[in-house]
Amino acid sequence: MGNEPRPFSQERIKQMHKANLVKLALLLLFNSFFHSSASAQFLGGLTDLPPTIENYPLQRLSERVYVVIGPHDWPNKQTKGFMNNPAAILTDAGFVIVDPGSSADVGRGFLEKLKCVSDKPVVAVFNTHLHGDHFLGNQGIRDAYPKAPIYAHQRTIDRLRSGEAQEWHDRFNGMTQGALANTRIAIPDKALKGGETMQIGGITLKIHHPGHAHSDTDLMIEVVEDKLMFMGDISMNKFMPYSAMPQDASFKGTASALRAAIDNTGVETYVPGHGYPEDKKSMAIQINFTEDLLASVKKYFLQGMQAHEMTARVEKDMEAYRTWDHFDELGKVIAHAYVEVEDEHF
Ligand SMILES: [Zn+2]
Repeated sequence: MGNEPRPFSQERIKQMHKANLVKLALLLLFNSFFHSSASAQFLGGLTDLPPTIENYPLQRLSERVYVVIGPHDWPNKQTKGFMNNPAAILTDAGFVIVDPGSSADVGRGFLEKLKCVSDKPVVAVFNTHLHGDHFLGNQGIRDAYPKAPIYAHQRTIDRLRSGEAQEWHDRFNGMTQGALANTRIAIPDKALKGGETMQIGGITLKIHHPGHAHSDTDLMIEVVEDKLMFMGDISMNKFMPYSAMPQDASFKGTASALRAAIDNTGVETYVPGHGYPEDKKSMAIQINFTEDLLASVKKYFLQGMQAHEMTARVEKDMEAYRTWDHFDELGKVIAHAYVEVEDEHF
């Protein structure tokens, strides 16, 4: 019987317990200091948990609003595509979900977390814009609540229907090496155009459409009673704001949408599409980013440089933002900012 595993001694169990307590203390300390995806990576390192939605906490932001802050990684095999901030508003009638994520599994994982808060049903879903990390999770909600309407801007619905939904599905399925194989596309079925005021379960939602900003499909959703606004990807906290789909964005339009949101005196808390919740101060830094970027690109444009010739110089001008996630992708952003500057001069 020499191969039989020896039970741990009391002393060894005590040691293991101590080590776990130290890990937990470190984790709490780290999480309280660093509100970034780094904490989640650290969590993964400590506990070997994969960086999927199951292992990210649901956080309460206001009386009625809950959110899971996702990682800043592009879709990959480990995250299974999870990268956004799925959120929910708990109303008297049930949950209103905003951007259920990048796959049916992410949507389902988010629903599981909401069950810990309340057993109320989901009564509505909103997609802030057409990008895959925000709408591909719809099916996870629709399977459980087939009657819950899914709202989005009319342009989101039109573009998704015209083939972009399938393109997003295939793109994410490829990048994650098959994590979306079982995800079906659930296109929003209720069109909004901006300017609506909606009452759901005793709360008031004001819908804002800023025209062309992060895309031409954006909605900002204001939760009046909680003085909170969902920004979609018009706002990304410490995350290069245009590195995803810069070809969809208007840099100037994004800056003016951010400004309108800041000027809204009824709002104190902003929920970005990616990164930690914000106040007016951190939102203003994002406007600075856009203005600094356009000013830098314009300077070299007027000196006769092409976009690819100015990359190193613009990067230097934008040094203050080097710590933002995906700063290394500034090159492709410059190319699109260049087009915007060029258009303005002809
Ligand atoms: Zn996004």
